[in-house]
Amino acid sequence: MREFRETLYPHWGQFFSIDEVLFEHKTEHQYLVIFKNAEYGRVMALDGIIQTTERDEFIYHEMLAHVPILAHGHARRVLIVGGGDGGMLREVLRHKSVEHVTQVEIDKQVIEMCKHYLPNHSQGAFDDARANIVIDDGVEYVNNSDDTFDVVISDSTDPIGPGEALYTSRFYSGCKRCLREGGVLVTQNGCTFGQLDEVTTTAKRLQSLFADYTFYSAAIPTYIGGIMAFAWATNDSSLRKTSIEVLRKRYAKSGITTRYYTPGVHQAAFALPQYVIEAIE
Ligand code: SAM
Repeated sequence: MREFRETLYPHWGQFFSIDEVLFEHKTEHQYLVIFKNAEYGRVMALDGIIQTTERDEFIYHEMLAHVPILAHGHARRVLIVGGGDGGMLREVLRHKSVEHVTQVEIDKQVIEMCKHYLPNHSQGAFDDARANIVIDDGVEYVNNSDDTFDVVISDSTDPIGPGEALYTSRFYSGCKRCLREGGVLVTQNGCTFGQLDEVTTTAKRLQSLFADYTFYSAAIPTYIGGIMAFAWATNDSSLRKTSIEVLRKRYAKSGITTRYYTPGVHQAAFALPQYVIEAIE
């Protein structure tokens, strides 16, 4: 039986048995593999690092989409950077209040192959009339676009290869220039136990750009090593203090049903372990 051995960490990691390879090829930017696994369903990896699985993707996509949108309260325009599998686009478009989503993905082939081999992720989201798909480097887009957004979601790979640019001050300042008054940026920021330096580095870079920055977290089984940190950056420090009553009202009004997100989990996610608090300060 062939195995996929993740190469994110040199001295430890996870493996998946490969029941069937659906796609394996070097794209213009990355090495893309999509395969079937008995436990996690269809799995996608880029450059040896697990990106998403059918079984646990809901945790990540719900927490990175609904926390900023429900905290904001009237997000009309959303920008997704990365997100080639389409799961984030699917979750954002579930909000009928969202009128427009631009998704900027560097690798066209990731979208094409995920549409074909991971249909349960996008579920037709790429064809939604509100979706505008742009093939470009996210850091170029946010520094050159005239468009503005209420929520920016960086659904990137780890800071390796093309994803590295999405952890730079140039990217964060570009996101800031694209954010409307009261807007918020959230990003995938690594698993704190094995990638704590990413939290420290991002905190330093956000500190000089935004009035309010912090992290919130969720544990996604196939992003190994415990909780994953999501960066939160905005000039409206009231956003992350949205009351549970208001979150409950907005969640109910959205009509969205979720499998991980709840208003209580939303609020609790901003409570961080001591070692992460120290890494931010
Ligand atoms: N959920 C995954 C995670 O947490 O690692 C990430 C999902 S998604 C597959 C990551 C996407 O970021 C990929 O489709 C990749 O092509 C895209 N990407 C990487 N670097 C990029 C860049 N500089 N600009 C735009 N998209 C980029």
